[in-house]
Amino acid sequence: MVKLSELSTYCREDAEKRLLVDEVLNPQHILRSLSKPDYFMDDFCNELIELTKYCPKCHQKFPEDENFCPKCLVSLKAIRDIDVRLIESDPEFSLTKTKEYSSFEDIFSAENFKIIDEFKFKTRDYNKILLNIKRSSIETFENLIKENEILLEDLDIQDKILLYAKSFVPVDYKSFGPELGYFTFNRITIDDRQIASLQITTLIHEMSHFLLKEIMTHIICTILDCSKNSLMEAIAVFILSYSPFARLIDEYAAHTTEGRFTVYGYQDYSSFIQIEQSLDGEMTADEIEITKSIGNTFAISIKDILESYIDEELRSDINELFLRQVRESPNYEMLALENCNRLTGEGFLKAIWLVLSEGFMSASQNLEKLEEYETYF
Ligand SMILES: [Zn+2]
Ligand SMILES: [Zn+2]
Repeated sequence: MVKLSELSTYCREDAEKRLLVDEVLNPQHILRSLSKPDYFMDDFCNELIELTKYCPKCHQKFPEDENFCPKCLVSLKAIRDIDVRLIESDPEFSLTKTKEYSSFEDIFSAENFKIIDEFKFKTRDYNKILLNIKRSSIETFENLIKENEILLEDLDIQDKILLYAKSFVPVDYKSFGPELGYFTFNRITIDDRQIASLQITTLIHEMSHFLLKEIMTHIICTILDCSKNSLMEAIAVFILSYSPFARLIDEYAAHTTEGRFTVYGYQDYSSFIQIEQSLDGEMTADEIEITKSIGNTFAISIKDILESYIDEELRSDINELFLRQVRESPNYEMLALENCNRLTGEGFLKAIWLVLSEGFMSASQNLEKLEEYETYF
C-alpha cells in the first residue's frame, strides 16, 4: 500500500487557490468588483411600474392588469412571494448496480478486501462519479424551480444559494447553540441568527462536507461494484470521520471550497486547527501538509460540481454582499499559511486508495458504530 509521505512527489501548486489567497492579501483586486454601476438603476426602474405577473413560458414580467402574454399566447401567472426556507426537498443521488449488500458482514469479505487492495479505480471512473452527481443535482434543482413556480432571477443571492443547496441535501434552521452550522448524515443545519453573508458561507462549507461524503460513497460502490444504500453511506461517513487524517482531509476540503466561493481569510480556521492540535505527534508537519493537499484536490472536484450553478457572476454577488456586511479584516496570519498545493491525477488516485484501504479496514473493526450510523439514512 502507498505511504502518505510518498505522496509529496505528486504535489503541484494549485494556481487558482494561490491567486484567490493573494487577492485577499492584496485587497485592491476585490474592491474593484464592488463598483457595479447599474446597481441602483435597476432598483429605480423596477419601482416605476410594479410587475406582479409573469409568463410561464418566456418568463417575461407584466403589470397586474395584464392577463395574457402576447408573444406566447398563454395566460399570465402571479409572481408569488416565495419563502425558500419552507421549500421541502428530498434529493437522491442513486447508483444502481446488479449487486446489493444487505449486511456489513457480507461487505467486509476477504474478496472485497482483495478488491480494495488491488484498487482498479481509474480517473475516468472518478470523473463519471462527478458527472452523475452534477447531472442529478441539476435535475433536482430544475424540478424545485418548476414545482414551486420560482423566477430564479428574482431571488436574492441568499435564497438562490439556499435553493441550490436544497437540490443536494435538505437544509434546516436553528436559533440556538454556538455553531454557525453543521452537516450530519443527510442534513445541513444553519443558524439563522447570523447575517445573510455568513449563512451563505456556512451553507457552502456544509455543502462541501455533504459532497465529499457523497463522492466517497460513490467511490466505494464503484470499486465494490454494488448499489448505493444506507450501508454504503454509513461506511463512507465512518471513513471520513474515524481518524484525524481523514477528518483533516474533510475539513480542509470544506475550508478550501468555502474560500473558492466566498472570500479567503474570513473563514473559521478553528475547524481544522482543532484537528491539527488533537494530533499529538501522530503526523509529521510534512504529512499534515500532504493531507491538506489531498483536501485541496477534493475541493477542486467539489468546486467543479458547484460551478454548474454558482458561476462567476453569482460568486461576485456573494463576495459583494460579504464585503458589505462583514467589517472585520481577514486573518492575514492564517491566510499566509494556506496550503496552495494539489495532487497530480496519479497522486490523487493513490491518495484515495490510501484513505479507502485504511478506512475500510478500520470500519470492519467498528461494526457497532456502522450500525448506529446506518439508522440515520
Ligand atoms: Zn411569453
Ligand atoms: Zn466543517
